[in-house]
Amino acid sequence: MPTAPTRAAVHYRVEAADLHAHLYHVTLTIAQPTAAQELALPAWIPGSYLVREFAKNLQRLAARQGRQPVALVQLAKDRWRADCQAGQPLVLTYEVCAYDASVRTAWLDAARGFFNATSLCLQVAGQTALPCEIDIVAPKKRAGSALWHCATGLFPLKVDARGFGRYRAANYDELADCPVEMGAFWSASFNACGVPHRFVVAGAAPSFDGARLLADTRKICEAAIRFWHPRGKPPFQNYLFLLNTVHDGYGGLEHRNSTALICGRRDLPRLGDAKASDGYTQLLGLISHEYFHTWNVKRLRPREFAQYDYTRENYTELLWFFEGFTSYYDDLLLRRAGLIDDTAYLKLLAKTCTQVLQTPGRQVQSVAQASFDAWIKYYRQDENTPNATVSYYTKGALVALCLDLALRREGGATLDAVMRALWQRCAGGPMAEADLLAVLQALTGRDWQGEIAQWVHGTAELPLAELLAAQGVALKAEPPQPAQRLGLRVQENHSVQIKTVLRGSAAERAGFMAGDEWLGLEAAGQAWRLQRLDDLALYAGAVRQATALVARDGRLLRLPLDLPAPDASGDTVRLELADAARAQAWLSAG
Ligand code: ZN
Repeated sequence: MPTAPTRAAVHYRVEAADLHAHLYHVTLTIAQPTAAQELALPAWIPGSYLVREFAKNLQRLAARQGRQPVALVQLAKDRWRADCQAGQPLVLTYEVCAYDASVRTAWLDAARGFFNATSLCLQVAGQTALPCEIDIVAPKKRAGSALWHCATGLFPLKVDARGFGRYRAANYDELADCPVEMGAFWSASFNACGVPHRFVVAGAAPSFDGARLLADTRKICEAAIRFWHPRGKPPFQNYLFLLNTVHDGYGGLEHRNSTALICGRRDLPRLGDAKASDGYTQLLGLISHEYFHTWNVKRLRPREFAQYDYTRENYTELLWFFEGFTSYYDDLLLRRAGLIDDTAYLKLLAKTCTQVLQTPGRQVQSVAQASFDAWIKYYRQDENTPNATVSYYTKGALVALCLDLALRREGGATLDAVMRALWQRCAGGPMAEADLLAVLQALTGRDWQGEIAQWVHGTAELPLAELLAAQGVALKAEPPQPAQRLGLRVQENHSVQIKTVLRGSAAERAGFMAGDEWLGLEAAGQAWRLQRLDDLALYAGAVRQATALVARDGRLLRLPLDLPAPDASGDTVRLELADAARAQAWLSAG
């Protein structure tokens, strides 16, 4: 299809051109280039804090003006200069190989297409603040294949009934913040607090209960809108959920009026199933999480993100607030929307407590440091990660919990009120830690610097048990799993593969290393093949001194091992309602 005339300064044409080669063909037309026009492809996508060097998938870049080829000089891995006639339309053509099924880049095959502009659309230096247009072109019709549709949060200028055609963005940031889904997907719409929402699901199995997903998502959206604006409207005109269901996968990325999600198709609600599976509850938590981000990180956001630099790391110490507080509210809003009960909520919260308590790195790194280092630590995990780092998601959620419960214990304020006051104070825009402190002071009449210093910038234990007890919830120690008792993270298929040896643990004292294969156990004068850690109790019984048989680097080793008693450690916990009436103010009300 030929591109219709455009009046935009910057115009992209993206064609799902070669499905089997996974290639998008992109044509970029710049109406008014400079004589040395620079172009660049982002190195990262906001919301996922890792330099991914999207330019590695770009190929066959060429430029012309009219019929004249234009020389291109490559300046860096992701930057080019076109030496052209200033002021004459400059046309760039290139291909992008799209073979990453995650929500962060781009995908194209015979079944579906998906892309973020950060993977496909070159930035035009000097013109990224100008409005741009994008023509999204469907693949050629193939015999026997279902008709494709197109869905995106971009503003449609001239699109056909299937959603292909021309869209507009106010600037490059908006283009980059509106992922595009194409394919023969399931789609349905609903209203939440009067605002139109659309849900698109790709790859679902025939058992998928779409009506259930829609009804539950609507409850989540209404709870979130009412959370931020008890009587008002949300700061967007419409919202789009893009969910890709796969055999095995999980994740999401937040955007200003949409979100791209991935889940296992087993986790979708099924026709005829009244009870939600754990997988479906997790999916609802993901939906709730990404939707909450529409306010908390896409609008209210770190001062450092006021203007993204797409070429390199954008550092902030505040991910504990934007990811952690969002993680606190994702499940809590499921409870408040009536999608889970108190028991289910406390089980999810206990899991978060246990995850943090089982991470020795919480005593090494603060959540502020974890935020800053996300680029090289959280997003680049290895065998030492649990020993050296703490998750700003899980510990950040517990900081939110502690703050909420501490505010409630003092009476008068709640974290909900703090979030709304922050939104007001920062006009739904960039914020700093000082803004949070100022709001806390204003709402309570006292200084919260001590708590923030200790919980956010320090590594001391959070006062979880004490604050939960004040709200009618008891935190109790549970017997840990064998792996945790020994201080191991393992993978078990046919044998026990050691992934991580936790700091200060019995396994570390015995000399286990990440990469070891634990083959067997000698205890009480007998030797056993070990295929899963659950069998330790079977073979060792009450014996405390044993020998582990381990394969490492082609050798067989015998490691003397002190088996810890089953009741050791307090790093696995459960939460119990001790005073249901007291807990209700926190769990069911706002
Ligand atoms: Zn998040």
